[in-house]
Amino acid sequence: MKDPLIAQASSTIPEARQRPGRRFYIHTFGCQMNEADSSRMGEILRREGWTPAGTAQEADLILLNTCAVREKAEQKVMSALGRYRPLKLERGALIGVTGCIAQQEKERLLKKVPYVDFVLGPDGIPKLGEVLRKVQDERARVAETAWVDSEQYLFPRADPETSRGRVTEFVTVMKGCDHVCSYCVVPQVRGRELSRPVAEVMAEVRSLAAVGVREVTFLGQNVNSYQGGASFAELLRQACAVESLARVRFTTSNPHDLPDELVDSFGVLPKLMPHFHLPVQSGSDRILERMRRGHTVAHYLERVERLRRGRPDIALTTDLIVGFPGETEEDFAATQRLVERARFDNVFSFVYSPRPRTAAALHEQEWGHVPHQTKVERLERLQARIREISLELAQAKLGAEVEVLVEGPSKTDPHKRFGRIPENRVVNFVGEAAPGSLVRVRVERVTPNALFGTERG
Ligand code: SAH
Repeated sequence: MKDPLIAQASSTIPEARQRPGRRFYIHTFGCQMNEADSSRMGEILRREGWTPAGTAQEADLILLNTCAVREKAEQKVMSALGRYRPLKLERGALIGVTGCIAQQEKERLLKKVPYVDFVLGPDGIPKLGEVLRKVQDERARVAETAWVDSEQYLFPRADPETSRGRVTEFVTVMKGCDHVCSYCVVPQVRGRELSRPVAEVMAEVRSLAAVGVREVTFLGQNVNSYQGGASFAELLRQACAVESLARVRFTTSNPHDLPDELVDSFGVLPKLMPHFHLPVQSGSDRILERMRRGHTVAHYLERVERLRRGRPDIALTTDLIVGFPGETEEDFAATQRLVERARFDNVFSFVYSPRPRTAAALHEQEWGHVPHQTKVERLERLQARIREISLELAQAKLGAEVEVLVEGPSKTDPHKRFGRIPENRVVNFVGEAAPGSLVRVRVERVTPNALFGTERG
């Protein structure tokens, strides 16, 4: 495929594409899964002889690792592409789009955005080097978005050397999603579920622990259906048994098929941190049914009750969608009631956004479109209350001593430190402790988003 813009870019600065010591820059959008994928792509690029650039302006290759979960996320990607366009014109930088928008748009993206050199779906990550060579050597524009058969798929292995000096890392345990939530694009862009074998996951965990990583967070769209040769709870047990690891976390689990064994893990594994992110999406059974979530509010609350029985200090966080097609004031009031009842430590709440080829988008006319103004107004009301509750829960920590895993210098003040408490809240504190150490911090001030305090001697 030829287009004038690409021809112009390569004829003005052709040597940029061949220059040795080439540098890459990865712009990551969206969730932790994308962050982990970006780390794997960075490692592949290093093995291919690329070095990381500090900014996009210095890079010969810019990767946008993208998110398709809401329209806003998609718009962010499109405007970032627009901002990177001059770098293609001025310096002949290569531009690749990876991740969920890449998978959603496939080769259409090459047509829509003529300065994109290649498009690479999530299953194509191991082929990144190959695709780049094609782009550079053959000056081809490539769209690599085929799914790989589960028998042939190899999860990219983390290179522990790039984690040296880091305190906390993500470890992918599954890919894809077999759920059919009617609003969600993830199954389309991430494919079918596949679990990574226990031995592979544990080899990665041990190699990270060996270079000093103190905390791992297991990642999967729904860890409940992990099938890597043991249950997910058994995988957690094995990770908690790694001596130099201090903390283990995971995300995400669906309340619908959340097994007792996983719930009960929180009561028996001290290294499994008392924080559970359990997305509920709505407080109305009528809406949950249309969302095809496979659970009711009562089921959700029963799971939460069992969790809190086993680990009374557990912090519960969730995701909520406001303005789903057909949501009435009454449905919304049910969501507000759930927020009061569950007392979430934190909530990620979103305005419903129709996604291409999802059941909810197809039924939106029939079920009833909620006007944008109403959605935003409901979201604001909900978020105001969520912040209040979050602040009340934080205030309960005032004056207390909390255990903090130190992650590094504070982002706002380099003389201070920052880390997290077991319940996952961020703490900024006055202290000297080295990253990776566990320290006691007295909490002196709180906001809904962070705690502030001083290290105890
Ligand atoms: N399986 C993952 C889903 C990731 S998407 C999980 O359970 O966390 C993260 C959140 O985005 C979802 O939980 C949902 O609250 C929100 N979301 C997904 N699709 C959406 C849509 N079409 N509109 C608004 N929010 C959406």
